[in-house]
Amino acid sequence: MSALLVIPAGTLESWVIDTVKQAVHVRFGMEIQLLDPTTIPEEAKNESRRQIEATQVMRGVLPELPAGKQRAVVLLDEDLFIPMLTFVFGLAQVGGRVALVSLARLRQEYYGLPANPDVVRTRLVKEVLHELGHTFGLVHCPDIRCVMSVANTVQHVDQKSSEFCGGCRSVLDDALRTT
Ligand SMILES: [Zn+2]
Ligand SMILES: [Zn+2]
Repeated sequence: MSALLVIPAGTLESWVIDTVKQAVHVRFGMEIQLLDPTTIPEEAKNESRRQIEATQVMRGVLPELPAGKQRAVVLLDEDLFIPMLTFVFGLAQVGGRVALVSLARLRQEYYGLPANPDVVRTRLVKEVLHELGHTFGLVHCPDIRCVMSVANTVQHVDQKSSEFCGGCRSVLDDALRTT
């Protein structure tokens, strides 16, 4: 099985990579390969919204990927949006190669609360598994405990578990066998 590429966009604290490494190992049985940090493309920066356009970051990363089928997760600490939504926690295409996850709105500080390392770590795991789940062909799941259920608010992220339900797990296992 090929390793999952991890690409920081900008500077990240080391616990972020460690957390992703462990989650990917536990849930997907995959090792990670940490690539050099990439820069956020200028065209992704929306000055008036003070946000980063997720699709533009993805477009910038795709040509930089090594040849082959290895999936990549891009991690960043900036607030992401797509034009039709106020914000997104992350982005991925179903069956695509790249998943994008932002830490910005997973942090308690964003909501005026004291920083909580355990909370942000748990949320990060859920969002990374969710977005990578899409790259493995999973769509949104009606089971609200499943990590593939939709989360539009941080409360939704907290409500769901970091596990794939039985149905999602079997689709995932099939995809992992051919990875
Ligand atoms: Zn999703
Ligand atoms: Zn599910």
